[in-house]
Amino acid sequence: MRFTREQREFAVAVREFCDAECKTLQQRDLLTDGGTLANSTVILDKFAGLGWLAVSLPEEYGGGGAGMVEECIFLEESARGLAPITGYSTGLTAAQTYLRYGTEDQKHTIVGNMAAGKLEAIALSEPGAGSDLGGVRIKAELVDDHYVVNGQKTWISAAHVAEHILLLARTDSSGNKHQGLTLFMVPTDAPGLQIHEIKTMEARTCNDLYFTDVAVPVSAVVGTPNQAWRHLMRGLSVERLIIATMALGAAQRSLDDVIA
Ligand SMILES: Cc1cc2nc3c(=O)[nH]c(=O)nc-3n(C[C@H](O)[C@H](O)[C@H](O)COP(=O)(O)OP(=O)(O)OC[C@H]3O[C@@H](n4cnc5c(N)ncnc54)[C@H](O)[C@@H]3O)c2cc1C
Repeated sequence: MRFTREQREFAVAVREFCDAECKTLQQRDLLTDGGTLANSTVILDKFAGLGWLAVSLPEEYGGGGAGMVEECIFLEESARGLAPITGYSTGLTAAQTYLRYGTEDQKHTIVGNMAAGKLEAIALSEPGAGSDLGGVRIKAELVDDHYVVNGQKTWISAAHVAEHILLLARTDSSGNKHQGLTLFMVPTDAPGLQIHEIKTMEARTCNDLYFTDVAVPVSAVVGTPNQAWRHLMRGLSVERLIIATMALGAAQRSLDDVIA
């Protein structure tokens, strides 16, 4: 495919920004508290100020109104430039599902947050449910006008710095394993939700989440109750593009460093 002049200029602008702000180890150490933070609020704020975050999300909800090509240019160049904003891509995945199935309020909140440099998380995986999400066991039980959530999620990226979690939970166990699943928009400061770091070799990224009688209003359901399997497939297909684009940027950076 051929890029337009604007798209090529956008790539150069992101590259020059990263060269100016994150090129040296000393700069990145300052931004990430010695490599312990995966996301720099300084860089997120600057990207937000430039209007580069949520560039592909609809303008009517506060996004940039461009397309996935522009988003991929941003993701590839910011990964190549080692900009510490790894949580941004997680929110971008979650946003696909909110935009397709969420309420107007949910769309405004999520896209507005993304554009402002705030992070959003998505919680699907559990100790017994990874590749096969049909194994999800965390339970959300409808009690009067709200759901009560109990159970565990694991490997949840950026949950400790996110505003909300797009939570996949089981609301009905009577059908087959892909039925009876529902998505919820849960604030990360909800009473009863504990977020614990999973220590890895990299800066803090993944978390275990423990839900103990977390009350979630019916208005926090994203899409149709018990239809989450169908809803999720859209967000996850875009996630593959997002991860591939960032991997391309990281590979390009490795090559640049080897040649330099
Ligand atoms: C850095 C990181 C960040 C993550 N962030 C998030 C997040 O933000 N939110 C979230 O919900 N999850 C997240 N995850 C979890 C991730 O989605 C899961 O790790 C992934 O779905 C795989 O699940 P699993 O680890 O349980 O592995 P398993 O499903 O147990 O798979 C283990 C291995 O078995 C293979 N395998 C599985 N089933 C089959 C089969 N039927 N046939 C053949 N081979 C098979 C797999 O390919 C894999 O190689 C993250 C994981 C990592 C490592």
